[in-house]
Amino acid sequence: MDGFPTSEGVRLVHALAQAIRDNAQHLSDIDGLIGDGDHGINMRKGFMLADEQARDGIDVATSLQALGAVLIEQIGGAMGPLYGSFFRAMARAARGREAIDAATFSAMLHGALGTVRELGGAEVGDKTLLDALAPAVAAFDGALADGGDFARALDAMKTAAERGRDSTRDLIARKGRASRLGERSKGVIDAGAASCCLILSTMADTMRGSLA
Ligand code: ADP
Ligand code: MG
Repeated sequence: MDGFPTSEGVRLVHALAQAIRDNAQHLSDIDGLIGDGDHGINMRKGFMLADEQARDGIDVATSLQALGAVLIEQIGGAMGPLYGSFFRAMARAARGREAIDAATFSAMLHGALGTVRELGGAEVGDKTLLDALAPAVAAFDGALADGGDFARALDAMKTAAERGRDSTRDLIARKGRASRLGERSKGVIDAGAASCCLILSTMADTMRGSLA
């Protein structure tokens, strides 16, 4: 079997919750510079709740579906519905698979990207999580197209997500709360791009540990 065992759903949600918890203060701090400073608090609340509810043995699709539902129902802000739909789209693409292999994960990434684009109406360059997500998805697919294996594609995805996150520093926000600041939104990394990078990196590290 090539890929991340689908039975390890709890491990994935647990790793995500831990990463969000460890970085919650930082996420709120950067949101506070051009937003209202609640991003880390919102995210921690949702991910911790989903982690508490996750039961051993549930598969990746079920655990991501449950995480998405909690985010939609329990956390406020712009991000509840966006990340909720992000994880539910990933869950749909993972459903029924025996393992999360490279092709399945690519489908999961495209599901998440499509739903965030559709729901948020943002494009790359608007200083949102899309600035981390879109290049990360492209880099993952690109590494596979170049003959790379799943692990290599995950590494490429991580690097692109970090670059995308950092690219938001010089951008003017065109969506969400920070867009009210216009020019003054420059000079700070976008909180959603930072959390998206963290989420993708954590998924990559968790799955990579289970690959041959
Ligand atoms: P709020 O702005 O309601 O306080 P959060 O602080 O949880 O919500 O999230 C702010 C983040 O939401 C921003 O950093 C940005 O990345 C993201 N965001 C806001 N609006 C959109 C949108 N329309 N499309 C995509 N992402 C968005
Ligand atoms: Mg906020």
